[in-house]
Amino acid sequence: MSAKASVSDRGAVLLGNSVACDAFDEAMPLRVVTHAHADHLVGLRQSLRCGKRILMTAATRDLVGVVNGSLPLDEGAVELLDYGETVAYGDEQVKLVKADHILGAAQVLVEDAGGNRVAYTGDFRVDGTEPLTDCDVLVVEATYGSPSFSRAFKVDVRELLVSMVEKRLRHGTVYVFGYHGKLQEVMQILHRADVCVPFVMPERVFRVSKICEQHGMRLGCLALSTEKEGKDLIDENLPCVAFYHMNARKSVGLLGSSRICVSGWEFHSPCRQIGEREHLVALSDHSDFNGLIEYVRRCKPKRVVTDNYRVSHGVTLAREITKRLGIPAVAMPR
Ligand SMILES: [Zn+2]
Repeated sequence: MSAKASVSDRGAVLLGNSVACDAFDEAMPLRVVTHAHADHLVGLRQSLRCGKRILMTAATRDLVGVVNGSLPLDEGAVELLDYGETVAYGDEQVKLVKADHILGAAQVLVEDAGGNRVAYTGDFRVDGTEPLTDCDVLVVEATYGSPSFSRAFKVDVRELLVSMVEKRLRHGTVYVFGYHGKLQEVMQILHRADVCVPFVMPERVFRVSKICEQHGMRLGCLALSTEKEGKDLIDENLPCVAFYHMNARKSVGLLGSSRICVSGWEFHSPCRQIGEREHLVALSDHSDFNGLIEYVRRCKPKRVVTDNYRVSHGVTLAREITKRLGIPAVAMPR
């Protein structure tokens, strides 16, 4: 292998001669799924149908099974890899390395017999993610790839979230809206802070939460919104936290309850009022712009490719990496 890495027009992050990450690619025999978010499961059904070897962590397999229940992920179709474990294909070794993003999330490192190293970060937060050093080419996510996506505030967002929830619980049910993985992180934060009211949720959020518990997260006392105990708590506006997917924001908890949306898309203040009794709290599972630059600085790769498929900030991030760190960088696909 010469040190090859790119991002295809269909969003596959191609590493070396054999690996396609996070989207289908006809030519590559191995498919890696870095984590269970939908924009990283592109063409997974096709990868299964075409008999690709499919690699992911056990936690990611379990989460994908809930988020996209119709995929046939059993029957030996999927190979489960722990962090640090390698799979060989030809003269290449493929390794998954932990990424701090959602449960099960991984970075991908491919190294050949000649010592060429190429890698892909997947989605990540810089602080809890081990830098992949000495790479010839590093493919980096670019979600917050523009300098305007820098969080200037120094407040501990987790502490702020706990105090907001505690205060609002005095008036009854508090609704929390977010994406899969993030909701469970909020449960974990509240549980650690001894917020011990019941956590009520619909079935899919409940099943994702149960998988997080099976993989070691401690989330608290979980109840289904469809069963009597949970339903009564919500209907009578009693103190509990109701967790719903962001998609339910326009249809749930609209009758005078306190509402909190957790989202990374906020950069000026850790908390902002967005409705009559609704606030947005800036809890992110991605690095902001400064975190992306810091991660690349720590890795010191020879070249960088930014993922310009999943967001449109890849071009800006590539330009800033070259300008600030002196490392050649391009955005792909163009
Ligand atoms: Zn993600």
